[in-house]
Amino acid sequence: MGKQQTKAGRERRKRKEPIGPVKIAMVSPEMVPFAKTGGLADMAGSLCPALERLGLKVSVVMPAYRSVIHGNFSLIDGGLSVSVPISDRQVEGSILQTKLGQGMAVHFIRCDRYFDREALYTASEGDYVDNAERFVFLARAALEALRPNPPQILHCHDWQTALAIVFLKAQPENYPELASVKTVLTVHNLGYQGLFGYPDWHLLNLDRSLFNFRQLEFFGKINFLKGGLVFADAITAVSPTYAEEIKSPEQGFGLEGLFQERAQDLFGILNGADYAVWSPQADRCIARNYGATDLAGKKVCKADLQRAMGLPETAGIPLVGMVSRLIAQKGLDLLEKCGEELLGRNLQFVLLGSGEAKYEAAVREWALRHPGKASVRIGFDETLAHQIEAGADLFLMPSQYEPCGLNQLYSLKYGTIPIVRATGGLKDSVIDYQPKSRSGTGFVFGPYEPAALLDALDRALNLFARPKGWEALVKRAMAADFSWDRSARAYAEMYQRLVS
Ligand code: ADP
Repeated sequence: MGKQQTKAGRERRKRKEPIGPVKIAMVSPEMVPFAKTGGLADMAGSLCPALERLGLKVSVVMPAYRSVIHGNFSLIDGGLSVSVPISDRQVEGSILQTKLGQGMAVHFIRCDRYFDREALYTASEGDYVDNAERFVFLARAALEALRPNPPQILHCHDWQTALAIVFLKAQPENYPELASVKTVLTVHNLGYQGLFGYPDWHLLNLDRSLFNFRQLEFFGKINFLKGGLVFADAITAVSPTYAEEIKSPEQGFGLEGLFQERAQDLFGILNGADYAVWSPQADRCIARNYGATDLAGKKVCKADLQRAMGLPETAGIPLVGMVSRLIAQKGLDLLEKCGEELLGRNLQFVLLGSGEAKYEAAVREWALRHPGKASVRIGFDETLAHQIEAGADLFLMPSQYEPCGLNQLYSLKYGTIPIVRATGGLKDSVIDYQPKSRSGTGFVFGPYEPAALLDALDRALNLFARPKGWEALVKRAMAADFSWDRSARAYAEMYQRLVS
């Protein structure tokens, strides 16, 4: 699969040629509306229906977490069971089903000892100690679930499901029904690879010879993601820039050599945004809906947000918002260095997030030191996330690295101008404002340094002080289109190439 086919795909896209009804099984560790810890859940929840709209046949396999079992999802228990080998035992599970959208089947692998827990991967005391076993089980059980009705494509996501590809390709004799299935692995964030000590190897029931540095071994540990990357027919990363960055030592997290070797099979496809949920016209969580031709509603949303966060309801002061996991990857260490300087500007700042204790403490401290100026909410709050997108003037994403990022896509749609670092999907979706040509959709900075961030912020604040120029920027941002249909088409074309 080289450049030529990519060109052919582009031509086909231009002609809007129909995509054949390829049969896809999406194996994902999380998916909206059933379970979510981050952008992967949004991606799976949007990509699947978008593929269906293109005429593909999609089914989903994921764990029956507590949020699934106790959620309001009309689950059907058809009495289907799975039995998979884990080490020298057989572990039993069952399959629950529901339908989504236009009849897409979702299969939930139920095994309460693994999945009926408070969280998906990590409790307050850290990662669950049996994560290797839980996701070996998921991978094997997913293949069992697919055996009776084989797909043409098995599309896995991240380390939690990568082993399904390894088991299928390394042990074809165990899965004869799935012999012709092509496999795709999507990397959502290379910072999480599923690393486990060699003592867990017996859980996988794979030949010992696969534990070598060209396959599943990684600095003495078992690397689930690496295994999937070695065996997958195609690999995707969630933005074109990230697909390039992971070939470098800075961003490759030790797997850059593998990505370089597999460059021909590595594709970067930018995630889309689900505008049915994330658009100021349709949003049900915000004080007043609005659009690019009627921005009055945005002012109402700003006042509402200021009220909700206990800030003075001043219309003319720029309001900077942030919704993020509070970890170094999201730029929290950078912000820690320049928070005081940032808050020295004439602005208001609201932050919603949770994450590492030291960053939670640091941002709480800002709010304490700058009452009436900075307001912080620690926790996960979907409604407030929408209200910040709608009510803020600027949205800050100073990430160290960002495979795709969703909030900047949402921000553009809400006319909430993103200030981002030029990395991964942020670079692919936000165009830096140019005063001369009056072009661009946000403010982009390069070096991971306080001065660069503050410079981008100051450029934004300067323009904010000029309402006409600012409104033009807001309208350009709102016109940018990152709908899922475009991204889904790129996936569909890749599937088609794999099966033809
Ligand atoms: P990542 O998956 O790395 O966390 P993304 O930008 O791809 O980052 O996706 C994050 C998603 O999670 C967005 O939909 C964002 O609104 C949401 N999110 C993150 N933190 C919170 C929070 N504290 N409360 C509500 N939503 C949050």
